[in-house]
Amino acid sequence: MSSDGASIVRRGLMLVLSSPSGAGKTTLSRLLLEHDSGIELSISATTRPKRPGERDGVDYHFIDSARFRGMVEREELLEWAQVFDNYYGTPRAPVETSLSSGRDMLFDIDWQGTQQLVERAREDLVSVFILPPSTQELERRLVTRAQDSAEIVARRMAKAADEMSHWAEYDYVIVNREITSSLVELRAILQAERLKRHRQIGLSDFVKALRAGR
Ligand code: 5GP
Repeated sequence: MSSDGASIVRRGLMLVLSSPSGAGKTTLSRLLLEHDSGIELSISATTRPKRPGERDGVDYHFIDSARFRGMVEREELLEWAQVFDNYYGTPRAPVETSLSSGRDMLFDIDWQGTQQLVERAREDLVSVFILPPSTQELERRLVTRAQDSAEIVARRMAKAADEMSHWAEYDYVIVNREITSSLVELRAILQAERLKRHRQIGLSDFVKALRAGR
């Protein structure tokens, strides 16, 4: 037993970010990961083709449908969903390892995946929905990104309206007007959630030692 407050054992948390595509979630995730060494990105498996610049095992595990089905059957995915024409899912093992060793995990998943995590891991879950500041800005960001064809951009705009209808299912909502202030807001959420009493599983030993004068 130790009365050193720095060594209080904590269970890691699952920080979920969802948004319509183009709301700035990917940039926000990247900045959070750069600023905070206590959180790592959950790398999803997907059947969607790789986009230019994406790396296998870094952005996603790019796999075919047969392998994806195998993972579902063996219950190796914590959650999975069909988004557009492809399948996406969260590998279970890395999440369990991280959380039990007190490290946090960041998830860039859609509302369908978030709903499954609410059912399976409510206590570990902190969910944040990112909204764009306006429809015009959302469209501008999708067009500027230009990684997808015009047809796909149009489909994503239509899909964005659907996605945004799920905002009320999240614990927190950030309107991403300006990336620096959104990052400050996101880090504040993470900071506060880390201090939740139920995550600090070493507290009772710590307080016991304090009370015993050790
Ligand atoms: P993209 O193809 O643009 O990378 O992602 C499309 C959508 O799929 C995004 O809304 C993203 O959050 C979601 N997504 C990515 N990985 C997962 C996952 O593992 N599970 C679920 N449910 N959604 C995911």
